[in-house]
Amino acid sequence: MRLFKTLAGLRCYLETARWRSLPVGLASPEEKGKLRQSPKAVIGFVPTMGALHPGHCSLIRRARQENELVVVSIFVNPLQFAPGEDLHSYPQTLEADQEVCRQLGVDVLFTPDAAALGINGEPLTQVMPPAPVLQVLCANSRPHHFPGVTTIVFKFLNLIQPDRLYLGQKDAQQLAILQRMVQDLNLPVEIVPCPTVREVSGLAYSSRNQYLTPEQRLEAVHLSQALQQAEQLFRRGERWANPLVTTVREHLLQHPALALEYVELVHPVTLTPLEEIVETGLLAIAAKLGQTRLIDNVILRSRSPIIAIDGPAGAGKSTVTRLVAEKLGLIYLDTGAMYRAVTWLVLQSGISLADEPAIAELVSQSSIELISTHAAPVVKINGVDVTQAIRSPLVTSQVSAIAAQKAVRQQLVQYQRHLGANGGLWRRVGISLPMFSRKQS
Ligand code: AMP
Repeated sequence: MRLFKTLAGLRCYLETARWRSLPVGLASPEEKGKLRQSPKAVIGFVPTMGALHPGHCSLIRRARQENELVVVSIFVNPLQFAPGEDLHSYPQTLEADQEVCRQLGVDVLFTPDAAALGINGEPLTQVMPPAPVLQVLCANSRPHHFPGVTTIVFKFLNLIQPDRLYLGQKDAQQLAILQRMVQDLNLPVEIVPCPTVREVSGLAYSSRNQYLTPEQRLEAVHLSQALQQAEQLFRRGERWANPLVTTVREHLLQHPALALEYVELVHPVTLTPLEEIVETGLLAIAAKLGQTRLIDNVILRSRSPIIAIDGPAGAGKSTVTRLVAEKLGLIYLDTGAMYRAVTWLVLQSGISLADEPAIAELVSQSSIELISTHAAPVVKINGVDVTQAIRSPLVTSQVSAIAAQKAVRQQLVQYQRHLGANGGLWRRVGISLPMFSRKQS
């Protein structure tokens, strides 16, 4: 594992290490130029403020599984603390953190100080999230916090240029705001949300738990217990915000050591306050225990599960998937048919299969329909029924080349997610969406 404290060291290392076929430190500019055609190492990035705990470790492990290079940062970002908050007392356990990172197979640990990042008290260009996401949850009591987070993460993304950014669901508002930043500013990174890791008691791991006395730890458990009670109510069919929020409040009223700051129900992606959960809701809570501010949340989801079935060609995936979907009352989404439809379109258009930018442009301007029937689904692209045509030997011979193109995959995955989110609608009538629609439902 390499440890860097400066931008110069980090940049120099990454410039060579990201070209995986090149031994680090040996690449001349000419060699690098030649390699521009070859695939780059995939980089996963986990930003943290240190005092690493099992929650952080879950993000790092996931990054290790999914990427060739893993970069972890430890930086207690002054921009996200207001005067009087715990910037100067925030737990620092750098030696232990280094050991944790080494054990987890991290490639680079980046631990700059504020000066190294050009943060010196002078006014700084900032990344400002849109006003509505700053009018809910933690932003009401910590108005400077999220602009500080977006600014520093933007800086890190520019420096490291990772392919994937790993963030915890524990900080649900931060996750939603960073997802929004990546979308609004077209940043070329995929955000990977990771579930909240909890102690056996249910208390979510947090570096700030170190501030708690043993007695306070016993009280802190009631945050997750209150959320669990609301979750049970939701499982029994309650969809209205009021009873769900009241359940949490009433539970916490019995534990006056916990000074409740807020309990709110919002949409997990847009953070818009919800009166009723139609599909998903984020029930989030913040409370103070002595001087320690704790947050927790639960996602309440009424959506059907998504089951993915994969296997070699000709193994019977489509048949099995259709049967499983029928039995469980789920939607059958034949992603293979979507790639075939795009392949058919490219072949029709006369664009060379090697011209990836032209194909990306073509696909992003097209619309696709998968209409569920009792037999195989009807597939239409740009209004043309291609259900039969996509099974031709020519399409079959070219589909893997098209499916290997990153831009095609990105657009179809985005489209499939959209279909998943609109599952009920799709099942009833079939839907047609521009494949490049970025709007969340
Ligand atoms: P922090 O060091 O608190 O800034 O957190 C760094 C990253 O770890 C953020 O993406 C957090 O959401 C994530 N994280 C913190 N606590 C947990 C937890 N208990 N479970 C999962 N992720 C977490």
